[in-house]
Amino acid sequence: MGAVGSLRVYVSADMEGVAGVVSPRQAGVEGDEYRAACALMVGEVNAAVEAALQAGASLVVVNDGHGNMRNLAPAALHKEARLISGEFKPLSMMEGVGGGFDAALLIGYHSRAGSPGVIDHTYSGRTVLDVKLNGRPVGETGINAGVAGFFGVPVVMVSGDSVVAAEARELLGPVETAVVKEPAGRLAASSLSPARAQEEIRAAVARALSPGGALGRVKPLVFPAPVTVEVSFMTTAMADSACLIPGVEAVAPRQVRFTGGDYLTAFRCLRAMITLAYVTIPS
Ligand SMILES: [Zn+2]
Repeated sequence: MGAVGSLRVYVSADMEGVAGVVSPRQAGVEGDEYRAACALMVGEVNAAVEAALQAGASLVVVNDGHGNMRNLAPAALHKEARLISGEFKPLSMMEGVGGGFDAALLIGYHSRAGSPGVIDHTYSGRTVLDVKLNGRPVGETGINAGVAGFFGVPVVMVSGDSVVAAEARELLGPVETAVVKEPAGRLAASSLSPARAQEEIRAAVARALSPGGALGRVKPLVFPAPVTVEVSFMTTAMADSACLIPGVEAVAPRQVRFTGGDYLTAFRCLRAMITLAYVTIPS
């Protein structure tokens, strides 16, 4: 795997970790601020695609992983990339990663719920307080690296703020990171310019995919089976609704647990729990 010319690269793209994005208003789903943020997002994604191609990638697939998953304007995407977009996708932010890739890149990522990063959250800012996998606290970087790891794909590069970069290094060891902003609070940051952020991303992808780079050194993140997922919700009603799923048990009034025979089973249950929890939010 991974010989130059046959390298297959997967890109999962989020928006909250993009340089200049500091508010949920920018992150969607309508208005001038949102449209501007979409342009910033595709700029960072294209920088990663370009660097992957320069490193010898024969295939680059981009999965739009944010919100309604239709943020990357097809017309603005790099000519050589394929785009996975739209809902409903069984593997969500990692749809398509099972397609025999050598490496995964996480672009525009944010830190886990409860961390001091910009727009910190874990899959759902309106329902989830905390997620643990096999006892380990994880955010989207960990959860999604676990999906990639299930298919034998290492996450070799992550971009976002300095907090998600540290989270990624703690989880994945010698992963490359591109820090495009410094948090100044949950909804504020000091960001690089878009052009400079894109340079940082290009450089980090180039380092990651170069001989002796992270691609050869980062192992796929594998959570040993059986995999236990523990979720703390914001309200007891959310935990109660999650307990409707067979096999999910309450461990505290707002906390539930599920053990799956393999990682994907635990991941699917996590997604089902979050989907059910939404039903309890008063409209
Ligand atoms: Zn997002």
